[in-house]
Amino acid sequence: MHNAALAALGLRDWHYQRLPIPPDVFPATVRALEGAGFLGVNVTIPHKEAALATADAATATARAVGAANTLTLRDGRVEADNTDVDGLLRAIPAAHDPRGATALVLGAGGAGRAAVFALLQAGVADVQVWNRTPERAVALCRQIGGRAVKEPGPARLIVQCTSVGLTSSDDPFKGLPLNADAFGAGTCVIDMVYRDGGTAFLAAARAGGADVVDGLEVLVGQGAVALERWSGRSAPIDVMRRAVTHHPHR
Ligand code: NAP
Repeated sequence: MHNAALAALGLRDWHYQRLPIPPDVFPATVRALEGAGFLGVNVTIPHKEAALATADAATATARAVGAANTLTLRDGRVEADNTDVDGLLRAIPAAHDPRGATALVLGAGGAGRAAVFALLQAGVADVQVWNRTPERAVALCRQIGGRAVKEPGPARLIVQCTSVGLTSSDDPFKGLPLNADAFGAGTCVIDMVYRDGGTAFLAAARAGGADVVDGLEVLVGQGAVALERWSGRSAPIDVMRRAVTHHPHR
């Protein structure tokens, strides 16, 4: 996705590469990267909290979420941001204006934290937060906002932020407190999880009549914001979306 975008921007000597880093050497590695020619880093599980802790400066968003997925390396300093927030907001279809809406966030991990912050920032009137381990939902709401619930009520925007669905399952609701009645016309369902062929949860939402957003669209959105941070250029979002959806591993 990023390499396709770099080529489209004519940044021929830029390259995006995968870099597996063990947690114990994460801070030292990040510090060494600028010297090795890196301008920025996307960070994923399990490094997002360490990324924020390692940074010299962080955006208000990254601080509020408590995790960073994007680091910019500049003049010996590490700057942290969390572009999952803007990535999610960019992925919400225009027909589902979050202002004044009701929302349900499933999950209270890193993605759930980013989603709750994003929805509140976008003006959602009531954000319910459900998590398998209820205390984590309570803690999230205390820190960021929203309302921890044990049994979710109806919501117009549903953001699935647990890792349920990452592996294949015939039961779209396995481990989740919903059934097909949760979906209907006028509901928008976003599944942060992305996998080959889409998730069973998203398929059930689509079958129930909801408008659905695949986690890949959020992936493209967060990547686009990160690329804009590093390059100072507008991200070629269609190129990135096409690269992701036509990836040979999908
Ligand atoms: P995380 O911090 O490890 O949190 C995992 C969440 O899943 C927790 O809320 C956990 O609940 C819940 N969970 C795990 N297994 C469960 C089960 N069997 N039943 C019910 N709940 C379960 O992970 P994360 O960073 O939030 O990421 C979550 C998912 O979002 C991952 O699949 C990730 O790839 C995806 N994601 C996608 C994007 C994107 O751009 N599309 C961005 C970020 C994340 P407990 O607290 O009870 O353990």
